[in-house]
Amino acid sequence: MSMLKLITPHAQDFSEPVAQLIKLSSRGLIGFDRQQFVKRAGAEFAHLLDSVKFAADEIPVHLLAIGSTEFYGANRNGDGFSDRTCERTHDTFRKHARFYRDHANKNPAKSYGLVKLSAWHTPMHRIELLVALNAAQSAADRNGGLVADREMEKLSKQQEIGVSMACRIPFDVCSHCGNKSRTRAEYCSAIEDGGHCKAGGLKRHMGRLLSDGSVLHADNPDPTFFDISHVWRPADRIAYVMGELQKAASHGITSGAELAELAGLTMPYTLSIRPGLPADMANQIKLAYQLAELENQLAPTNYALAFSSEVQPNLNQPPVGQEKFAQILRALADEEISLPLRDFVRLVTNTSEKQANEVAATVQAYLPGIYSRLIASEDLEEKVAHNPYKPAGSATPVLHLWAVKQAADLSVKRAHLYNRMQLAAVRQVALPTLLPPASIEKQAGVSVPALNMATHYALYKLAFLDSISQISNDLPLTLTCTVLQNYIR
Ligand SMILES: [Zn+2]
Repeated sequence: MSMLKLITPHAQDFSEPVAQLIKLSSRGLIGFDRQQFVKRAGAEFAHLLDSVKFAADEIPVHLLAIGSTEFYGANRNGDGFSDRTCERTHDTFRKHARFYRDHANKNPAKSYGLVKLSAWHTPMHRIELLVALNAAQSAADRNGGLVADREMEKLSKQQEIGVSMACRIPFDVCSHCGNKSRTRAEYCSAIEDGGHCKAGGLKRHMGRLLSDGSVLHADNPDPTFFDISHVWRPADRIAYVMGELQKAASHGITSGAELAELAGLTMPYTLSIRPGLPADMANQIKLAYQLAELENQLAPTNYALAFSSEVQPNLNQPPVGQEKFAQILRALADEEISLPLRDFVRLVTNTSEKQANEVAATVQAYLPGIYSRLIASEDLEEKVAHNPYKPAGSATPVLHLWAVKQAADLSVKRAHLYNRMQLAAVRQVALPTLLPPASIEKQAGVSVPALNMATHYALYKLAFLDSISQISNDLPLTLTCTVLQNYIR
């Protein structure tokens, strides 16, 4: 379990521009420009800079990231990072972060630059970064990202840019009572509210000025910084959330953890994969993140026609018993058959078609957002480690023949999708309406068995996709279709 935190632009006051271009000449940083830089970043950083190679199409930028609590106090979102923490963890910026816009951090191809260097600037008590922005298409191609046109334009005119950051923490600690919290729900509260925090608690009084002159805040002893973003779109959700909350700030401040939730902040899947995890587990986690992203951007498409029940007859029951379950899954996967929910329910529960249809009708309400919930759950790693839907290494010829015969009806291979879409057009089937992206946790009367079945169906698809992802040359379409299938009534 962990918390994500947002560190908003200008959350700390450094009394100088947060981002500044470095004027490198062909011979490096020399003369007056070097003197100016040493004033800002210190001789040690200037020396480190000499060892970093910049291509002609990259623009070096010096960024002031985090100031320590001891020197600058907690930031405006009530988060503190001590001297010792900053010194120990600053390099996570270099290891995990790229330069993004508006925290769209899931896809490195949407980054605008790399973090080449991080440093703890001891005399100034700050974490400082050296970022290489992609100044031309050639740099963007080489670094696997986009051209940082807006950033360069602003910086070259010496305009301020809003820089927001994000980190993941296993827990934070109340600066007054020492209460450790893994989620916001565990934040301490005041004695009159039934808690034990004599300073009023982080739950409701984050940022409160205490009688000893200190500010009640959350100390973050073990952050992993994974994102630096230029916040530039005024209409963007993150910018909006920050603006609205700052307006409402009269009744206390909004914590970095709450901001992260409100803004829908996510972290790159790579942070969820422990080093040394078996390849199939790592791949399933990666797939879950990809599917969650697709859920968030799902739009009506003609491919939905290929999943209309009018062109998808029910699966014929397999010619073998449940003891060959893994082989059944293998035969289906080899034909790239992604079972509709009703067929999945029937196969795993061994019930009649009628009963399976009834169960599926209940379970379907839990499918929208299922992958977003899966990646937010504490035990995704555990779930994929024991995924019961992993196909066997091979299947018998009889099973293969059974699956081949049903590929036209149920496969997500491009050719089969197109054939079914044509069939639907001929039969004048209406484009199915998609289920709304409902948030079921907020509804009363959640059915636990139905929720469990929905989770099992989601795991089945992860195992299916894992088994074909190495051989498929059409994976993006397959991923889109397996998500789309969840939203069709
Ligand atoms: Zn407390």
